[in-house]
Amino acid sequence: MAQAKDLYEILGISRDAAEDEIKKAFRLQARKYHPDNRETGNEEHFKEINQAYEILSDPQKRTIYDQYGLNGLKNTYGDSEMFNFGFGDLSDIFSQFFGETRTHRSTTGPERGSDLRYELTIDFLEAINGCTKQVSIQTHEDCKTCKGSGAKPGSKLKSCRSCNGLGEVRRVTESFFGHVTQITTCPTCHGNGKIVEQACTECNGKGQELTKKTIDVKVPCGIDDGARLRWGGKGEAGRKGGPPGDLYVIIQIKEHEIFTRDGENIIIEQKISFAQAALGGHIKVPSIEGEKTLNIPAGVQSGTVLQIPGLGVPKLNNAARKGDQLIQITIETPNKLSAEEKKIFEQLAKIQEEKGGKKHGFF
Ligand SMILES: [Zn+2]
Ligand SMILES: [Zn+2]
Repeated sequence: MAQAKDLYEILGISRDAAEDEIKKAFRLQARKYHPDNRETGNEEHFKEINQAYEILSDPQKRTIYDQYGLNGLKNTYGDSEMFNFGFGDLSDIFSQFFGETRTHRSTTGPERGSDLRYELTIDFLEAINGCTKQVSIQTHEDCKTCKGSGAKPGSKLKSCRSCNGLGEVRRVTESFFGHVTQITTCPTCHGNGKIVEQACTECNGKGQELTKKTIDVKVPCGIDDGARLRWGGKGEAGRKGGPPGDLYVIIQIKEHEIFTRDGENIIIEQKISFAQAALGGHIKVPSIEGEKTLNIPAGVQSGTVLQIPGLGVPKLNNAARKGDQLIQITIETPNKLSAEEKKIFEQLAKIQEEKGGKKHGFF
């Protein structure tokens, strides 16, 4: 992607475009420049459009881009994680937005392995502090016996009759691009163009076998729900010496019973009594770093939000910079009073009546 180009310009939108405008512009542009579009298709520009959308549709990335530009994003996410999608994987991006699949597999030369997607659920505090999780994924690797050929060692390969050795089947369909040539992998030879005379007994001629891999996934501190992490080369093994695909880990964060998250701030609700509200004082409140003392100012109102700076969510990958903890104060009205409490409240009501003639409240 040319560094100098402005992402808003690429999508043809203004800098204050709303989310749905961005999406709309992306769809329009992607449709126009998709490589399948015979008249206006342009693969390079299509990639730019995708990359621009990738950033501008993600509020966090957009904010960083607005303030610091592409270099800012690189500093935050690193080169490889700036975009959630691999540069070469257009069909993936495409199917995500248009619900269409475009499969294309070359019969000659190495093939890149497929990308894998793994949903990883982590606890609230693990997302705040970062964590390392072992994930077990199943991938297809080349069969060790036939080294991926699918042929029994010593047996020959013959040309596939379904596709005349091309490995792919072409079909013209009508879509909103107009006529689209859909190229799909030949189901008989799975794109190889050749079938084996005698199948490898180890993998039943598939050439690949399912293996289980355990990967340590390092989740950076401050990660947000729905974030996608990408591990280059940890996806399915490539074929015919091709590179492996990538592994995408999608983060899901469990709700916490006390804490909720609002951007970089952590919010808790704290109930206090009438007496505490009127008199003020110090109370203990839970925080992500354990119990902390909170100063309640005398006369605090229900709905007041108090703040403990620096006890919020750390910036992604930067534990040193944190948001704040916000404490929403609710004053609890007692609904069962002991005889003694009732007496005190009645006394209080009396004093206040005398003071201001007010009859509508205790304070
Ligand atoms: Zn085999
Ligand atoms: Zn075939």
